[in-house]
Amino acid sequence: MSQERVFIIEDEADILEVLVYNLTREGYKVESARDGEEGLRKIRQKAPDLVLLDLMLPGLDGIEVCRRLKAEPTLRGTRVVMVTAKGEESDVVLGLGVGADDYICKPFSPKELLARVKAVLRRGPQRDEPMGERLVRDGVTIDPARHEVRVDGKPETFTATEFRLLHFLAAHPGRVFTRDHLLDRTIREDAAVIDRNIDVHVRAIRKKLGPYREYVETVRGVGYRFRDTEA
Ligand code: CA
Repeated sequence: MSQERVFIIEDEADILEVLVYNLTREGYKVESARDGEEGLRKIRQKAPDLVLLDLMLPGLDGIEVCRRLKAEPTLRGTRVVMVTAKGEESDVVLGLGVGADDYICKPFSPKELLARVKAVLRRGPQRDEPMGERLVRDGVTIDPARHEVRVDGKPETFTATEFRLLHFLAAHPGRVFTRDHLLDRTIREDAAVIDRNIDVHVRAIRKKLGPYREYVETVRGVGYRFRDTEA
C-alpha cells in the first residue's frame, strides 16, 4: 500500500514537531510549512492526501488558505483538517463553510489526532459534488459556484450545511419537504456537521435572509418549503 501523505501548515515550532513526530511514527509521509503562502506553494508541488491546517497563521490565515485550496480545481479534492485553539469555535464553522472536512482543538492527544486523520483519509479524495445552478429569488441570489449567498446584493456568510439546505429548498419553490428528507439531502454522511437538527439550521438561514426570512416557510406538522413567488 502506498504511503499516505500528510502536509502540515503550522507556525508554532513545538506543535509542528509533535505533529510531525506522531504522524511519521504512524507511517505517514509528512511534509510541512510554517505559513500559508509557503504551504500553498508546496501543496501545489506535493499534492498531499490531507492537509493539517492551523487556523491562526501569520499572513494568510487558515480560513483563507482553505478557501484558496478549494478554489483550485486540481487541489480541491484534498482533505483538510483544521487545527484550532479553544475559543475559535466560530472560526471552525467558517472553516467548514469553506470546505474543511473536520477540525481538532488544541491541546489534543496524539491518539485523538491520529484517529481524526485516519477517519478523514478513509473517506478518500473529496469528490466534486455536481454543482447546482445559480438561483435568483427576488432579492436573494444563491450561487453554488462561488458558495455565495447575496441578500439585496450584500454577501452573507453561510455554513456548508446552511448553503446546501437553502439551495435545495430554493431550487424547488412551493414544494414541501419533511425534516427527514432535508436531513438526507443536505447533511447525509457529512461527519463534519456538528448539529443534525434541521430546525437549528433553518433558524440560522432565516436570520441571514433578513427581509426575506419568511421565504423559508414552516409547514406545520410536515416540514419546510421555499415560497413560490411565481404562484
Ligand atoms: Ca498558530
